[in-house]
Amino acid sequence: MALLETDYLVIGAGATGLAFADTLLQQGDAHITLVDLHAKPGGHWNDAYPFVALHQPSAFYGVNSLALGSGRKDTVGHNAGLYELASGVEVSGYFHKVMQQQLLPSGRVHHLPMTRFLGMADGAGRIASVLSGAESQIRVRRKVVDARWFSPSVPATTQPKFSVAPGVRRVTPTGLTQLWQAGQERPGQFCILGAGKTAMDVGVWLLDCGVSPDAIRWVMPRDAWLVNRLTTQPGEEFFMHAIGGQVQQMKAMAEATDPVDLFERLEASGQMLRIDRTQRPRMFHYATMSEGEVQWLRQITQVIRKGRVQAIEAGALVLDQGRETMDAGTLYIDCTASAVEVREMAPMFQPGRILPQLVRAPLISFSAAVCAYVEANFDDDAVKNRLCTPVPFPRSVGGYVAATMGSLANQLRWGEDKVMRHWIRESRLDGFGRMVAGVDRNDAEKMALLGELRQQGAAAMANAKRLLAMAD
Ligand SMILES: Cc1cc2nc3c(=O)[nH]c(=O)nc-3n(C[C@H](O)[C@H](O)[C@H](O)COP(=O)(O)OP(=O)(O)OC[C@H]3O[C@@H](n4cnc5c(N)ncnc54)[C@H](O)[C@@H]3O)c2cc1C
Repeated sequence: MALLETDYLVIGAGATGLAFADTLLQQGDAHITLVDLHAKPGGHWNDAYPFVALHQPSAFYGVNSLALGSGRKDTVGHNAGLYELASGVEVSGYFHKVMQQQLLPSGRVHHLPMTRFLGMADGAGRIASVLSGAESQIRVRRKVVDARWFSPSVPATTQPKFSVAPGVRRVTPTGLTQLWQAGQERPGQFCILGAGKTAMDVGVWLLDCGVSPDAIRWVMPRDAWLVNRLTTQPGEEFFMHAIGGQVQQMKAMAEATDPVDLFERLEASGQMLRIDRTQRPRMFHYATMSEGEVQWLRQITQVIRKGRVQAIEAGALVLDQGRETMDAGTLYIDCTASAVEVREMAPMFQPGRILPQLVRAPLISFSAAVCAYVEANFDDDAVKNRLCTPVPFPRSVGGYVAATMGSLANQLRWGEDKVMRHWIRESRLDGFGRMVAGVDRNDAEKMALLGELRQQGAAAMANAKRLLAMAD
């Protein structure tokens, strides 16, 4: 059995593992080994459907040392006027480049694709090749980094939790794009199953492809609040939307009487969107959309709100709250994989082990980079855990308050350390840091807005406890 050695053994070479490894490499002299089941770096992006794209601007996704995209704005499509969103293949290509151009040339990174981490035994990681089955051990001199905490489920690799009768046509979003293949009959009706971002992408894509809204039905167990992408733009010209938007978020949090009221205030000030304004959404997962996409989706009016699918029978859907008769020729597009899994939070720094989680919601790659920065620059685990207090990912509207307040509390702690504050401000993954740092002190309007942000932030924190107590 081969015995390898490394300082840090990173399990998972998705966005989390790569962003962590990239910053750790920049911040010290450690040797890093990444093991991953996939054939290429990038994690679940390798399994994504052809029309997937980031829902946030490329400008602040990926790893710290390499820009993603060219910083241009889209001129066509539903995102026109806003900063580019990398497509799935661009994200995969980017992570390939990260490995080939940033990590491996350092001579301090070892990548083991198609390799399963089996566990630790006597200070060594046990791994096995997916292809040959051969087992090896990696002696870990410093720490194991478990970068699998997020590991979102995606349709292509997830089995449905409902039964499907023989003869029923169920496809994943990838299968939907393969309907051109010989022997595939054109469906009379399309039915989207699920209410998350993937389901929304499918709705937009079907309409873009010219499918009539009358031919689309949509099973939506819960309606969702959506982040208005306009408020996430990193360019200077969006200062009022981005920083002004943060002021509005803090103001809404300071004044809201309960979480429902909070989201209605956020909608009124243009921070949040919902597809159907007659519904009161209960779900919030930071799915981010442009106003154009939301408007486009409103064409789909045949929405089935009877809970989750339990079974698809020939000619009918069985749902939590009843049956729904369906056309026999319906094609079901399964978007029920839960991209956001429910996982227990734990201290990020444990003896011999690091478990990267969110330090600022919802920025996964930024969070992993901060976690690596803290590992490289601080000694005491108690200090590290204070700087990287896990922020809960929201499961519902109530979770937004905890996620926002947790992110804010971490930000305040980082601000106490001048060097860390500077590093974060310069990080491309931070989103708005450079925009704020670049404000001309003589620009009275922008300076006033920054002052208001501080004021409203304090008021929001004061009201947050009350809102948290009401959260479900
Ligand atoms: C459609 C879609 C769009 C998204 N858009 C955005 C966005 O715009 N912005 C954003 O911030 N986030 C977005 N996300 C969230 C996204 O999931 C994260 O950004 C990120 O890609 C998650 O990466 P990860 O490394 O945590 O998980 P993964 O990509 O799942 O990587 C985990 C890796 O661990 C490996 N692994 C698991 N078990 C083992 C084992 N035993 N041994 C070895 N390896 C193992 C897996 O093979 C996998 O490669 C999106 C998600 C989806 C599904």
